[in-house]
Order: sequence, then C-alpha cells, then structure tokens
Amino acid sequence: MNATLKVPIMPRLQALTQPKPRTQAARPALSPSTEPTSVNAFRRTLQRTIREDGICVLTFDRPDSSANVFDRKTLEELREELDFVAGAADLKGLIFASAKRSIFIAGLDLHSIDESMPLEEVRSLLELGQSQISRVAGLRLPTAAAIHGAAVGGGYELALACDYRVASPDRATKIGLPEVHLGLLPAWGGATRLPRLIGLPKALEVILAGKTLAAKPALKRGMIDEIAPPELLINVAARQILQGKPDRPRHWLVNNRLAATTIAARVRPQMLKRTRGHYPAVLKALEVMANGVSQPITQSLKLERDAILELVPGHACRNLLRLFFQQDCAKKRSVPGIESPPKPRAATRTAVIGAGVMGAGIAQWLSARGLPVILRDLNTEQVARGMARIARLYRDGAKRHVFTGLEVRAGLDRIFPAPMEVPLKNTDLVIEAAVENLDLKKKIFARLDELTRADAILATNTSALPVSELAASTRHPERVVGLHFFNPVHRMKLVEVIAARQTSPEVLQRAVRFTQEIGKFPVVVKDSPGFLVNRILMPYLIEAGHLFEAGASVADLDRAMLDFGMPMGPMRLLDEVGVDVAHHVAGTLAGHFSGHMTVPALLEHMTGAGLLGRKSGCGFYRHTGTKDPQTNPQVEEFVRTQGAASLSREELQERMVFLMVNEAARCLEEEVVTDPADVDFAMVMGTGFAPFRGGPLRYADTLGLPRLVGAMEFLVERGAEQFLPCALLQQLAGTEKSFFQCT
Ligand code: NAD
Repeated sequence: MNATLKVPIMPRLQALTQPKPRTQAARPALSPSTEPTSVNAFRRTLQRTIREDGICVLTFDRPDSSANVFDRKTLEELREELDFVAGAADLKGLIFASAKRSIFIAGLDLHSIDESMPLEEVRSLLELGQSQISRVAGLRLPTAAAIHGAAVGGGYELALACDYRVASPDRATKIGLPEVHLGLLPAWGGATRLPRLIGLPKALEVILAGKTLAAKPALKRGMIDEIAPPELLINVAARQILQGKPDRPRHWLVNNRLAATTIAARVRPQMLKRTRGHYPAVLKALEVMANGVSQPITQSLKLERDAILELVPGHACRNLLRLFFQQDCAKKRSVPGIESPPKPRAATRTAVIGAGVMGAGIAQWLSARGLPVILRDLNTEQVARGMARIARLYRDGAKRHVFTGLEVRAGLDRIFPAPMEVPLKNTDLVIEAAVENLDLKKKIFARLDELTRADAILATNTSALPVSELAASTRHPERVVGLHFFNPVHRMKLVEVIAARQTSPEVLQRAVRFTQEIGKFPVVVKDSPGFLVNRILMPYLIEAGHLFEAGASVADLDRAMLDFGMPMGPMRLLDEVGVDVAHHVAGTLAGHFSGHMTVPALLEHMTGAGLLGRKSGCGFYRHTGTKDPQTNPQVEEFVRTQGAASLSREELQERMVFLMVNEAARCLEEEVVTDPADVDFAMVMGTGFAPFRGGPLRYADTLGLPRLVGAMEFLVERGAEQFLPCALLQQLAGTEKSFFQCT
C-alpha cells in the first residue's frame, strides 16, 4: 500500500539519476581535421588538444569512472591547464568538453564535503573552485562549453563562466543547479553568474527550485545559447568562439538593488510557505542572489562562500547529504555472503502479470529501460486499459522532455499485450501484480512455475501477503522473491526486495541487481507482515485515525504533519491510498501485531459508507477536481469523543511520529532490515518522510532517545498503551546510546 507522494525537496535529486532509455549517445567528437599537438600525462582527467584553427579543447575524462566530477585533484589540473592557456599567446579560444557518454561534469565530488571534513577545508575547497572558475571567466580569450550529458552544479558553474554554452539535445543532457536539494547553494559562482546571465527573477526560479532542465527549456530560459547534435558540438562551439566575446544584456531593470530587494520581499514568503522553514538553503540562496546581484562579482562570491559555511554544519544539509550518499550505496549494494555477484544479463526478457495500476506502471518502466515485456491480464479489456495507462505515462513523459517521440514509440513496441496465456519459456523474470488475494496469487504462481524455465525468477509485487507462502505453491521456491514497487512507479525509486524463507541468495542477488539495472533503489527486507515501509507507515495512519475519532480535525492533523515536513498529511494520504485499502492493510497488520495495533472503527465505517477517498470522490476530503480539496463534513459523524480536540500541533506530531519510530525500532529488533540507515532511506524514498530530518531513526537520535522514551512513557501512563517503547528503544535510551551510534 502506498500512494502518490510528492516529496518536496531531496528526492527531486532523482532528476540527476533518472533512468534513461538505453540510447547510444554519441560522444562529442573533435573536428575531423583535428590532430592532437600535445597529450597530457597518462590518467589525468583533463586532456588538452589544440585544433588547427588555434582553439584549445580541454576534455574532461576522469579515469576509471563513467562520471566527471570536480575534486581537489581535478581543480589542480584545471589550474595547470589555465596557466597554460593564459601563457599561450597564439591561442584563439578555449572549449570545455567531456569524453563521457552521458555526463559533461556532474559537479563537486560530494564525498569531499562529508561530515568529517573540517570547515576550514570546506572553505579552502570553495575558494579553490571559485578562483579557478573565476579565472575562466576572466580569460582574455573567448571561451565555450560544449555540453553533452549532465552539466549540473559545479559543471554548469564552469559553463556559466564561459562566454558561450552549446548543448546537445540528447535526453542525457541536463542543465542546472540542484544544490538546494542537498541543503546547499551553488557557490562556485552559480548564484552570482546565473542572475547576471538571465536576470534575477528567472535565475531565482531555477536555483530556488534546484531545477535541472533539458537542453530545449534551458535554451528558452537563456541558460545556454544554442543546441547542436553531440557530434557537432565542438565545431559549433568553435564557430561561436570565432565571433569573439559576446555583448550580453545587463538586465538592469531587475538586477539593481532596489528591484532585487522588492523581488526578494515578494519571493521570501512564497519560499517560507513552500519549505515551511525546514530548508534553510532555499532562503539563503535567495538572500545571496538578491544581495549579490547589484554588488561586484568578488563581493557576491564572498556571500556564496559565507552562506555555504553557515549551511554545511546544519542538520538539514547533513541529513540531505547522507540520503544522497545512501542513494549511491543503494545503486551499488549487493547481498552479503555472495562473493562474486552474477554478471548482469544483456537483455532481460520480462513478463508482468496484471495490467492494473501497478502492473501497467511496472511494464512502462521496464520498457522505457529497453526491456521487452509481456503484459498479461485476464482479458482484452483489462489489457487495453493497461496499455492506455502506459501510453498516457509515455505521453506525459514526452511532455516533460523525458522521452523523445521515437523513444515513446520504441518503448510501446517493446510491450507485448497478452489477453490470454502465452508461452513464457524465454522469459527471465516475471513480476506478478494481480489483485491482492493470497489464493489467487498462489494459483498464479503455481501456473507460472509450469510455464517458465526453472531458472527464471518469479517475483511478486504484493503489498503485504507472505512471499514465502507464494513460494511454497511452486516446485522451485528458491526462485521466488518479492519486488515491491511503490506507486506511482515512474516517480518512486524505492523497491523493497523481499527475501522469502526459501529464496536462494543467488536469486536474491539477481533481483537486487535487476532492480539496480532498471534504475531503482533496492532495499533488501525480510518476509514479514507489511515488509518495512508499510509496516512503519501503518501505525502512523492508524494513530491519525484514532486521533480523528477522538476529536482532532482533519485539517489540524494534516497541517501538523505538513508542518513536520511530510509531503502530505495522513488524512489526505488515506484518501489517496484508498480508505478501503488502508482498512485492509491495517487489518492484516493488526492481526499480526495485535499487542500494539488496533484498527480504528472509522476505517470500516467509511469503507461501508463508500467514503473511499479520491477514487470515490469523497473521503476525509471532497475530491472535486480542484487542486486543494475541501474537508468533508460527512466524516464528522465518526468522531466519538473530544479528548484529542485540544491537542497542540506538537502533541499531534509527536503522537503520530513516535509510533513510526517505535515500529522502525521493532523492525530492527526483528531484523526486517539490520541497518538503521536502510530504515531511514526506505522511509524517505518510499513515503517522503521529511527528508531534512533524515528519516524516523535519525529524527529520534536528534531528539535524544531518553527524551523520546520519557515522552512515550508519559503517554502510556495516561492509558495510551500503543506508545509502550519497544525493548530496543528502552535499551538504547537506558544506555544513552543512539541508533546510529550502534552501527
Ligand atoms: P489493480 O486492481 O489496479 O490491478 C490488478 C489487475 O490484476 C487487474 O487488471 C486484474 O484484471 C488483474 N488480474 C486479476 N487476476 C488476474 C490473473 N489471474 N491473471 C492476470 N491478471 C489478473 O491492482 P494494483 O493496485 O495494480 O495492485 C496490484 C498488486 O500490487 C497488488 O498485489 C497490490 O497489493 C500491489 N501494490 C499496489 C500498490 C498500489 O498503490 N496500488 C502499491 C504497491 C503494491
């Protein structure tokens, strides 16, 4: 069970890692007439070539890596190259390019500002980056960036320091400054130069939202000057350079002190509303840009540096960086105990059973990743409905420049609709996403067992049913695994990989590898009720229901959790998930954990009354198609007491979040997962748990476990037994430890 969650800040970083269809992106090639006149020492990142027309091309090609990033060594190399360029009297210009397939330069190597780095070192790295990029801006030669692939953060800041920017229209090309998603701001001149290039208002739109754009919208905003095919990029950049330094508009009307102050005064309340004050980087970026735009560049760069030194030690920045590193780990993780992970298969042939919300979403995602998919449902009508859903997903993606028209057609062509049973002997992996019914799924698995090769993986997308029981209905249970995707599949990058009792380590490893190959983040979890994410989410939703029955209003409950930093309040989430679905899952979990979970009667009453949430048009809200639905007074009849009516915002927050923390700690106790970082990562990626807080366990650590346990015991004393802290919480609090100290 999960629903459409709009995660406010951090997970938009996914834009940088968003899976792409497998296109053969051409490398930006040097002009055919080009002969290298000098090649730098082996294994340098920067390769220098001098063209016949006297233009120097510096190509970034970080050794042993598919990405170009800036670290101290690369910056030192850049310094040497700029020394050369500055001293070479006969050069006509300078072009920056990349030899990587899908990355121009992805910015600063974030590991270089990890928690252990003293602030003085952060300052020196900032100064080094700023000074080298400023040297590029100050060169007497015309300069250009030939961008193919991601030019984000420091990569785009280098491009901004150039006189011209030309980019390829390839889908891999992403241009922008996403630093606020990490609790930072662009401080190698990005917050200074973008407003000067495109004007303060447009620059604020990009930087405060941490936008990364495809080439076309970037061109429209003036962030680049021209679009050219990858193989022509350098020649086009050379042509621009031969025009000499450009004379650009100064945007006097908006980039003066008075206008900047007025703009900042208008934008600040909007940003405060959007971030609820939890993401200081957004306000800091606004301050730096508005103050810096009318000052000399050196002064504005100093504002950038000071702001970073203020932001880096803060909780929000630390937590967002940690989550970013966890994404990196999730991309590489393997199952412990498997010495040499099996090699990925070149083309995994897949089948998806069930063409409903999830089946269609999964099939679309797989086909967009270049995999052939058989999409099976009961009849033509259901399959057609699934195909229509898939076509819609592709169409929306094309509108957002995620796919070209050609990719949409190729993606759709890779899906084979199957309204009847078809041979599956060539299929490597089947994902079952039929309705949530154990007997039905058992039958499906028994049949799949007969239809597929013995080495094909059989996966289920069940939300809560025991995967081990499904495995038991097959002759080869070792090849059954859970692959729990989240809804909507194209937005949610988490996949719980569920190890049934019988799942072999090799199959588990293959499932993890498959998840990584399709561009999702796997978290391996034990086969236990609700797995990890739904198990932790449910007590939160259940408590929200109890609080509502006890007189807390829908608006107060939702506002409390929005203020806490959730992307959506619990009542709205119940409506999105479907009250009936929540009732079903809550019932299943409460059956297993009757000691501390009781389903509020409200869910049953609402289900009986047809108040199912968005899908029925009415739930806790009236869903009339407007962006902000109104609360539904009809549900007031389910309020039983007024005990919670007077609870403060903080009390409501504590009650709901403490239960999540308690359940998360239980999951560790029971080894549903063993690493607290996995719990936090899964909750942020799977439910949008306030990213700046780092996840429920990091939040608990920040609060202090003795204080948390004290507050929970206080509630128990007042009769709320569900707050009884689990043994692990009590033990950690008793020994003054924290979750992350234990690892
Ligand atoms: P859905 O009702 O939208 O779709 C289910 C589809 O399965 C229907 O098209 C139905 O015709 C088809 N089906 C039924 N029996 C079949 C059979 N024998 N063979 C082939 N197809 C059959 O359901 P959904 O929301 O897509 O959920 C599917 C699975 O994914 C469930 O197990 C659910 O718990 C799980 N899940 C759902 C969500 C969610 O938010 N909807 C999230 C994660 C996991």
